[in-house]
Amino acid sequence: MREPSIFTRILEGEIPSEIIAETENAFAIRDIHPQAPVHLLVIPKSADYRNVVELAAGDPDLLAELVGLANTLAMEHAGGDFRLVFNTGPDAGQTVFHVHAHVLGGRLEEKTLGA
Ligand code: 5GP
Repeated sequence: MREPSIFTRILEGEIPSEIIAETENAFAIRDIHPQAPVHLLVIPKSADYRNVVELAAGDPDLLAELVGLANTLAMEHAGGDFRLVFNTGPDAGQTVFHVHAHVLGGRLEEKTLGA
């Protein structure tokens, strides 16, 4: 059995982090090292999926739920517009292998994506 992920430990209250939203199957926290004025993480409660490819194949409804939660949070925290990022694999910057979406909003300075 794998060690519990950092996100499972946060969900279970073992590591302190404010849970800013929670649904039946997902929750959201603020990223500890924000890369944008608004930088949230939307995470399935289940740690069964290591990345978005596995999640899309195994539980597309849960992926859709994450996107819906990201949208709700972007409306609440970032005026509605947002960038949704799933780092997939170490070379793409993934460090936590419990699938999660980065919700980036506010004034995005990063110029390699988007306008
Ligand atoms: P990844 O690099 O896997 O795409 O994203 C993992 C994210 O989790 C990183 O942006 C990192 O800053 C964030 N993170 C790692 N540990 C913690 C933590 O203990 N609390 C919070 N709130 N975020 C964390």
